[in-house]
Amino acid sequence: MVAIEKYKEVKSTLDKKNVKLIAVSKTKPISAIKILYDLGQRAFGENYVQELLEKKEELANDTEWHCIGHLQTKKVKQIASFVSLIHSVDSLKLLKEIDKRAMQENRVISCLLQMHIAEEDSKTGMEQTELQSILDCLSEGTLNNVTIAGLMGITTFTSQKQQVIKEFRSLRSLFDRLKTNQFASQANFKECSMGMSGDYELAIEEGSTMVRIGSLLFGQR
Ligand SMILES: *Cc1c(COP(=O)(O)O)cnc(C)c1O
Repeated sequence: MVAIEKYKEVKSTLDKKNVKLIAVSKTKPISAIKILYDLGQRAFGENYVQELLEKKEELANDTEWHCIGHLQTKKVKQIASFVSLIHSVDSLKLLKEIDKRAMQENRVISCLLQMHIAEEDSKTGMEQTELQSILDCLSEGTLNNVTIAGLMGITTFTSQKQQVIKEFRSLRSLFDRLKTNQFASQANFKECSMGMSGDYELAIEEGSTMVRIGSLLFGQR
């Protein structure tokens, strides 16, 4: 069941704060996506490439597809021609592959660098050393078909609010540091993708520019 009233409420809260909503539609049917599409929602987030490809066929061309789940290098090719934003770049190897496939498609793909901010090791995202190798590579100026649009992070799954706040702050402060240093001359570097159904309000308070919300809109998976 799509929570239409909830969608409208969330959307109006986010619009007031200039935060972009990514409706996370993984495992949900086309019919549910279309309901939000008809209400004006264009950005949808998916985790699995195969599912993304199938859904893309059924939706209008102006739908924005966001890849938010861990992306395997070998699958980049399949989404390179149309993906709007890849939130889950967690290695230099993956970024290089995206650049290569984007070049073949004659386009520039926007990417977010996914940082490990959670306390649990199970959560994905890269550590500082991997980030540094990406920054070094970017500074060589050879990756011409990717643009780094900002950062993404997933917090620890916990009811301890203080822990979640701490993790949001760590991502936002890294974002601010990069924005004033490495990416100072790049207006494209402007997104801090953080916050999901359970913690999006906190995320906004802590400086999120983009939230990824699934179950609150589409029901439990
Ligand atoms: C599934 C998923 C979401 C949405 O989670 P909800 O709790 O359903 O809002 C957000 N981000 C990522 C990376 C996800 O995999």
